[in-house]
Amino acid sequence: MKVNLIKMCAGAMLPGAMLCSFNASASDNGMLTDYSKFPTYNGDDLELIADKQGAKFTLWSPEATAAQVLIYPTDRNSSPTDTIIMSKGDNGTWKANFPGNNYGKFYTFRIKHGGKWLKETPGVWAKAVGTNGERAAIVDFSATNPSGWESDKGPAIKSINDAVIYEMHHRDFSMHPSSGVVNKGKFIALTENGTKSTLGDKTGIDHLKELGVTHVHILPSYDYNSIDETQLPSNNYNWGYDPLNYNAPEGSYSTNPANPSARITEMKQMIKSLHDAGIGVVMDVVYNHTANNDDSNFSLTAPGYYYRYRPDGTYSDASGCGNETASDHQQMRNFIINSVKYWAKEYHIDGFRFDLMAIHDTETMNEVAKALKEINPSIFVYGEGWTAGDSPLPVERRALKENVSKMDGIAVFSDDIRDAIKGHYSNAADRGFATGKPGNEETVKIGIVASTAHPQVDYSKGNNSKFAYATSPKQIINYVSCHDDLTLTDKLAKSMPEASEAARQRAARLAQTIVFTSQGTPFMFAGEEVFRDKKGVHNSYKSPDSINAIDWSLKSKNADQFRYYQELIKLRKAHPAFRMTTADEIARNIVFDKVKEPNLISYSIKNNANGDNWNEIKLIFNGSDEARDVNVGKGKWIIIAQDGEIKADGLGETKGGKMEVAPTSALILAREK
Ligand code: CA
Repeated sequence: MKVNLIKMCAGAMLPGAMLCSFNASASDNGMLTDYSKFPTYNGDDLELIADKQGAKFTLWSPEATAAQVLIYPTDRNSSPTDTIIMSKGDNGTWKANFPGNNYGKFYTFRIKHGGKWLKETPGVWAKAVGTNGERAAIVDFSATNPSGWESDKGPAIKSINDAVIYEMHHRDFSMHPSSGVVNKGKFIALTENGTKSTLGDKTGIDHLKELGVTHVHILPSYDYNSIDETQLPSNNYNWGYDPLNYNAPEGSYSTNPANPSARITEMKQMIKSLHDAGIGVVMDVVYNHTANNDDSNFSLTAPGYYYRYRPDGTYSDASGCGNETASDHQQMRNFIINSVKYWAKEYHIDGFRFDLMAIHDTETMNEVAKALKEINPSIFVYGEGWTAGDSPLPVERRALKENVSKMDGIAVFSDDIRDAIKGHYSNAADRGFATGKPGNEETVKIGIVASTAHPQVDYSKGNNSKFAYATSPKQIINYVSCHDDLTLTDKLAKSMPEASEAARQRAARLAQTIVFTSQGTPFMFAGEEVFRDKKGVHNSYKSPDSINAIDWSLKSKNADQFRYYQELIKLRKAHPAFRMTTADEIARNIVFDKVKEPNLISYSIKNNANGDNWNEIKLIFNGSDEARDVNVGKGKWIIIAQDGEIKADGLGETKGGKMEVAPTSALILAREK
């Protein structure tokens, strides 16, 4: 995620330094409020249910002494036509009815709290909003569906390990003049077929199909705060980790932010287009904090309730963004669960990536995964298993990487494999296994076995983790870079400044070969397949398009790099041996060879693992800049990867025995018996 205050990252969590656990905040009289005693409401009809006969409003606001709904004719710059007094309902709710066909109108809530009327808010459950998300809209959702939506479905997968995830920002992907896309930076950019770069290469959705990824993970696409939707021609850029309205799409990605239906329809069109191409959509969700504190929609509907506080009554800040939400408070937990269910049902979302997931408690995450699997067993959930600061939530309750074994159906990013392969994320010059620095071998092996217990992996030598924290490979996302921190291209430029670009591309190939052949689920940052960079900017959350947009002329310049990634993905998808689903299978089928040299790993995946047609796959990774000799069992092997080249169907054959592994490269061999 981004951030205004500090840069956030892996390893930022502070185990052991926990504060006392409490469930309270400072109230107006200075006493702490015990939120566990508050009534809660778990209905899915909160805030607005509308049809042609009328609108029914239900606002959860247990401490309000009065509440109103204001009806507006437009999304801004107008006065209310009606002010409706709400009456107190059950379970901390306030209710009001507004008869008649009100489609096209806008509304806000206003509550009286502590003796004064608070500012207006669209509420926390606005499913449609106008410009800048200031007012919620009454929309006929059945009219927002693109044609064929009723039969729209994402790809079915048996296990998260079958996914190949591609992390993408809407503007990065289509904004560059070379993209050939008409609707640049918009949701509907991904509905354009047949787009080409100025040099004739496929771009847009055709590029994704050509690459072969199974899922696109889109950076935050709910309505966020930082982009002024009245000023879209100024072309501001933001990652979007500053949530405003969690249940409505972002306006700047639509063609008309003032039209609440447009953003909904266009996002659905994008999803349908990806689904029609066989590609799933993972949404990045940021329930851990809000853009604003006292002025957030949470604070204006139920002041104090949705956040955690320090003993002195100030906002605690495990997000590094000024506040943290309280998933351990029942109504916040309900909110998160109902919100992801809503996106899964209304938008057919196929997966969720939780930002700073360890701010949430494991119980909430378990309920999230369970609720989503009930809707669609192919939906998967993963997240950042760390926080960006300390939290009042006890360490043992946090959805940390180290606690992933307590969570069913949740995966975490492996900062182990990430840092071990390329060097430390925050030290630009630091090198890793693939760039010749010794001492990372055991941590790469931890990555290969998806952080599960393996008789030949010594966790005491792990750089980031000292125990096998995963009980299943379904709990691990492997990667070497993402939107955060330097791109792989920039990391290689800064850590191997004397090397040629060709040498750096070799290192990138080796790095991603380790990721894509490891157990767990592979994840890559958009554009690395064409060796995109971000001009050395590591925290580009609000950098202009000139830093963030992918230059698609690179696809021609780095055509060999693209083909390598394409074949690597093809290899993984064709061979279930890389996608084992239990820790036992991994322990039984993966056998590491004894090697003496640093920056060398050699192992086999044996026994037709996970039903593979290959009896044995031999993988040798040489991260040094010297060739290494290895001994491979004699027999007929297919050469899959060698000396910086790869072909899923084979580059040729060898009889094994003594073989040379070229500098900074992978040697992959396979045999059917
Ligand atoms: Ca917005």
